[in-house]
Amino acid sequence: MNILIHKNIIRTRFTTKYVTIDSYKTLPAHCIITYCGKIGANMNFYTFIVVSLLITTYLVEMASNLLNIKNISSNVPFEFQGYFDKEKYTKSQEYLKTNTKFYIVLSSFFLTLQIIFIVSHGFNYLNTVSLSFGFGTILTGLVFIGILFFAVEILKLPFSIFHIFIIEEKFGFNKLSIKNFVLDILKSWIISTIIGIVVCTTILWILINVYQSAWLFVFLFIILLNLFITLIAPIVIMPLFNKYTPLEEGELKKSIEKYAKKERFKMKGIFKMDGSKRSTKSNAFLTGFGMFRRIVLFDTLIQKHTVDELTSVLAHEMGHFRLGHIVKHIIFSLISTGIMLFIFSLLIDKVWLYSAFCMHVQPVYAGIAFLIILYSPVSLVTKVVSNYFSRRYEYQADAYSIKTHKNPEAMIIALKKLSVDNLSNLHPHRLKVILEYSHPPILKRIKAIKSLVILESVFLSKP
Ligand SMILES: [Zn+2]
Repeated sequence: MNILIHKNIIRTRFTTKYVTIDSYKTLPAHCIITYCGKIGANMNFYTFIVVSLLITTYLVEMASNLLNIKNISSNVPFEFQGYFDKEKYTKSQEYLKTNTKFYIVLSSFFLTLQIIFIVSHGFNYLNTVSLSFGFGTILTGLVFIGILFFAVEILKLPFSIFHIFIIEEKFGFNKLSIKNFVLDILKSWIISTIIGIVVCTTILWILINVYQSAWLFVFLFIILLNLFITLIAPIVIMPLFNKYTPLEEGELKKSIEKYAKKERFKMKGIFKMDGSKRSTKSNAFLTGFGMFRRIVLFDTLIQKHTVDELTSVLAHEMGHFRLGHIVKHIIFSLISTGIMLFIFSLLIDKVWLYSAFCMHVQPVYAGIAFLIILYSPVSLVTKVVSNYFSRRYEYQADAYSIKTHKNPEAMIIALKKLSVDNLSNLHPHRLKVILEYSHPPILKRIKAIKSLVILESVFLSKP
């Protein structure tokens, strides 16, 4: 029996130069057994640690989901009487339960698959397949990561179809046709492939050719790439998925422009997005930097809200810019990316990392895939921190809207309507909020706006 082995995969140091070898050779099995025997002694232990980490992350998420379901209350909260009738309120709870069940099935399936793939030496097999093309390290890495990416994408497809065409359809949200669904998938695959090839090639090239502090160069590249994508996304990527038309002249445009002028808010324009092409759910957002900033309103949002409500929502969005939330968010994600890359650089050449994933050899591209997998438990923690700040920023942006647009009533009505239309959960469990909510629960937001109004009126009434 012969086992394929790539010469340069024996070299693992992040900082040492890899020898570019375009061929692979076959070694007699006994050579490999001696080599793998050293790893084998610790293999089960490290694999056990990785599998335990993945299961713990899964269990924490499941616990938050189940507690969330238990937290459901059958009575319509006082605030929402007149907005949610009993029937619609029950529907919102059914929606939550159905989505939770769906998510549990989805993550259980992928966790099981992931563990089976790891312990059955799937990565080793995938590496053998990638090497069989006889490419150099970078191309072999692209094949390895590409196969992994598309395998996950294809496995996810039936779940997406079920979610959009069964669940969203049942609750009256879905507006997506099969044709547009297929087009969406194809477009996102093409974009992911282009970006993926650029990112993987550059990162692998840096790891192979830079001797010292390679992670710093990878970090610099990621910063530049982010900047580039943020700049081109509204112009090149987003129009591939939706149509953006300038908001027509009228009361709404006048109201938004008047507010933006008063607040000296620079922008490129106000656009309407055909969100109704996919779903009846509604939203509004801002994209781009400085002069390129665009305000985007879903057509579904415009249909359901008054001019005053929409201006309050946009005042909230502009508040995020004015209060520096966007910049703070970027700084936070840059710092966490930098720390993560530094930690990655310490781990990528460790033999135990590869043995943890039941690999007998250590190709750097596999190391990248493993670190990304291991990042999911870590990201659970970073998400808790970033969500905490994000929720604080939401309160601040609400307050900004109230102080500048001075129409708390319109803001509260807008929030209520948005919750009803999107069948939002009014009583999420605390653990769910801590782990996943980037926005505070709606009842808390309304309460905060009301206390602000009381506080302001007390303040203003002082002599
Ligand atoms: Zn916000």
